[in-house]
Amino acid sequence: MADAEDRTYRPDALIAQDIEAYLARHRDKGLLRFITCGSVDDGKSTLIGRLLYDSRAVFEDQLSQLHSDSAKVGTQGQEIDFALLVDGLSAEREQGITIDVAYRFFATETRKFIVADTPGHEQYTRNMVTGASTADAAVLLVDARKGVLVQTRRHAFLAHLLGIRHIILAVNKMDLIDYDQATFETIRDEFAQYAADLDFADITAIPISGFKGDNIVTASPAMEWYEGPTLVGQLEAVPLPGERAQARPFRMAVQWVNRPNQDFRGFAGLIGDGAIRPGDPVRILPSGAQTTVKSISTFDGPLDEAVAGQSITLTLSDEVDCSRGDVIATADDPPQVADQFEASLVWMDTAAMKPGRGYWLKLGSRMVTATLQAPKYEIDVNNPLGSGAHLAAKTLELNGIGVLELHTDRPIAFEPYADSKALGGFILIDKESNATVACGMLNFALRRAQNVH
Ligand code: GDP
Repeated sequence: MADAEDRTYRPDALIAQDIEAYLARHRDKGLLRFITCGSVDDGKSTLIGRLLYDSRAVFEDQLSQLHSDSAKVGTQGQEIDFALLVDGLSAEREQGITIDVAYRFFATETRKFIVADTPGHEQYTRNMVTGASTADAAVLLVDARKGVLVQTRRHAFLAHLLGIRHIILAVNKMDLIDYDQATFETIRDEFAQYAADLDFADITAIPISGFKGDNIVTASPAMEWYEGPTLVGQLEAVPLPGERAQARPFRMAVQWVNRPNQDFRGFAGLIGDGAIRPGDPVRILPSGAQTTVKSISTFDGPLDEAVAGQSITLTLSDEVDCSRGDVIATADDPPQVADQFEASLVWMDTAAMKPGRGYWLKLGSRMVTATLQAPKYEIDVNNPLGSGAHLAAKTLELNGIGVLELHTDRPIAFEPYADSKALGGFILIDKESNATVACGMLNFALRRAQNVH
């Protein structure tokens, strides 16, 4: 189709340059990252298209394309079929390199947003994990005609496991059920019962129609019985995460050691938590060696202070042993170092987990060998009465979520995932196929290493 070939927007290539331009244009606005989750056909593409369209984030050429595509193949009369915006991009993606998570940007008067759009097909767990690992909030889409499904519960549980604290339950396609209040409230209450054990900071249920625009940006005249926020209103109200990470003790995993000459040895990385200044005492882990920060530099020059989320290069006052994968941390409040853990694991491979076998465990920039024990239990994500139910399990199959004991061949510096995503989240890689087979969260240490504390 000539039209398709003529399209000049390249979602994946756009991202790198556009993210900078986009962030710069809205420099003074707070940034919220969120993920949308739903089963196929719940209306995710339509909703994202609507958000982009209503916020004018869509480029003009895409818009005119959209109008003509809608006229040709739109299934719902003359109105713009917003799903074409997103699905068109997905089709392109499938033909080329597979990118499972697309990040899209839009801004309102008060905030800017990055939405991780994860396809709902059968590899959704993997995609959702990728998208959710950096998200602060999740929009869980439910088709009002179908209510809370197994997938809804699974997505909610994964969101909880990945540390997302703010949930928006978007009950979509309200126009197809005559904007019925009772149906909305039944769905809202059923979800609340399921999620009661998951420690979300807030759950906001909103009746919407992504297709018609009800309760997306402005309050819907068709649902005067609803008194809560609109979807965009709630996205603007979710507390931003930044301050929490900055208030924590300093931690930076060393991504590489930069040694341009004999006099300069810099340790580069992304600050996972906290803040750092020249002169601050630090400890290198797992060795435990102590020194102080001599300087902080970035591409833009030296800094007097750097905070969580910034990529920096540190120099240290002493010639201590510090290599890729080590963690530099506040000296008087360092992370723990251990080699035996309890972990929660989400299995993402078609081949089941093999207890007793060694996998590569990658935590930040550190790579060690981990041996997994048989699960203590598998989580019964589908139990509609609540999320706490446990099942006996000898292994984990594709999409299984379990809790188990894990040993590493060397001690690693870590923090419980609940405290630090950067030092508590890991992936497992199969040593033969090199495939990422699981993602996990360290819950706590079962045996600490002797050498540091
Ligand atoms: P996705 O698979 O979750 O991305 O779903 P789509 O956005 O592709 O939507 C699936 C179908 O539902 C399409 O035919 C949409 O036009 C339709 N749809 C999505 N949202 C709504 C809505 O709020 N109301 C109505 N009536 N149809 C909707």
